[in-house]
Amino acid sequence: MPDRIVRCSDGHLYTAQWAPFFSLRAVRLGSRRFARCPVDGRWRLVTTVEPRDLTEAEIEEAKRHHAGLQ
Ligand SMILES: [Zn+2]
Repeated sequence: MPDRIVRCSDGHLYTAQWAPFFSLRAVRLGSRRFARCPVDGRWRLVTTVEPRDLTEAEIEEAKRHHAGLQ
């Protein structure tokens, strides 16, 4: 399961194991999911972000928070 960089609808960046087909912990909505953000613990719409679209500082910020399986 690859780690992906994820952004919640509040703009927090974190990393998560992004289950490709099935997830118990998140409601799938196309490319977005409703999942618990590890930064503030709130349920938010989240979407994966490509690392090439982020600065190194943003990638470092994302790596400070890990949500586990989503
Ligand atoms: Zn958040």
